Amino acid sequence: VQYAFLRTIPGLENVEIMRPAYAIEYDCLNPTQLTPALQVKHIEGLYSAGQANGTSGYEEAAAQGLMAGINAALWLQGKEPFILARSEAYIGVLIDDLVTKGTNEPYRMMTSRSEYRLLLRQDNADMRLTEKGRAIGLVKDDRWAKFTAKKAAIDEAMDMLRNTPVNPSKETQALLESLGTAPIRTGIHAYDLVKRNELSYAIVADAFGLKRYTPDVEEAVDISITYEGYIKKQMDQVDKVRKLEEKILPKEWDYTQIKGISLEAQQKLNKIRPHSIGQASRISGVSPADVSVLLIQLEQYNRNK
Ligand SMILES: Cc1cc2nc3c(=O)[nH]c(=O)nc-3n(C[C@H](O)[C@H](O)[C@H](O)COP(=O)(O)OP(=O)(O)OC[C@H]3O[C@@H](n4cnc5c(N)ncnc54)[C@H](O)[C@@H]3O)c2cc1C
Repeated sequence: VQYAFLRTIPGLENVEIMRPAYAIEYDCLNPTQLTPALQVKHIEGLYSAGQANGTSGYEEAAAQGLMAGINAALWLQGKEPFILARSEAYIGVLIDDLVTKGTNEPYRMMTSRSEYRLLLRQDNADMRLTEKGRAIGLVKDDRWAKFTAKKAAIDEAMDMLRNTPVNPSKETQALLESLGTAPIRTGIHAYDLVKRNELSYAIVADAFGLKRYTPDVEEAVDISITYEGYIKKQMDQVDKVRKLEEKILPKEWDYTQIKGISLEAQQKLNKIRPHSIGQASRISGVSPADVSVLLIQLEQYNRNK
């Protein structure tokens, strides 16, 4: 195949290959057959992970293996599945994409696939996920102690910055000038200084004699304060979406019987069988109007139940 292809290129009609390229081919499941907990929908207790689900890559396989393993264990214990939201982890994005949209090509977890990249940062991975890991018994005491100490330090630093007044005295203005930043007109708090692009927690703390913390704590404080406005905007979006994620759809619904949604939506919903209204809203072909109808139907269903 490689010879036939290469020799179509003008000038390479007689090309010889020293070492051919490799190619791999494998069968996989259609991942839309899986629940967000990676359970095969029609075979209770069977979980699937890795490239068998249509992905490629070490991290993709490891992430799914972890989640399928966790969920298989929870299922055996009769507990609720462990599902990470798109706004909580790249694992959430990966699995939601697979089980909601399926994939035509080996799926790779590119960061650009996440709509919440401002929240899914490396520096806050522990803050996002350690409590969840602890709740399902996967975070041991030593790691938990480190985490709670870091969290307490971040909270303490943030509180201290919010409660440390900075007055426009002569000394302060001189100090600000020496730091290469604009003078202040009214009394502010140390927090407002850290917000300035040219300043950081470390600079402000040294200048005003505040307590210093470990670099990871100071980095977390810097990022939270500098990007506060953008982060808040994204959190507001997450809150809106979360409400839809919490609306769980009944497993037994036959969507062809639901009047008022489009034929395409009926077919897609029956095929994918989404876990929640949130997941339903991400299926291509399910419009916002269809989602409104589903919301009303679900409310009626829950009331009757
Ligand atoms: C040459 C090559 C280079 C690659 N380079 C990279 C790279 O640089 N970076 C990257 O991220 N990814 C890379 N990949 C992709 C990555 O290796 C795979 O996507 C990943 O390892 C898949 O992990 P998995 O656990 O899903 O499957 P596998 O690692 O294939 O594990 C499946 C396991 O199941 C076993 N098995 C199969 N059938 C049965 C059965 N009936 N009973 C019991 N056991 C069975 C197999 O022996 C195997 O051990 C590369 C792949 C190849 C082939």
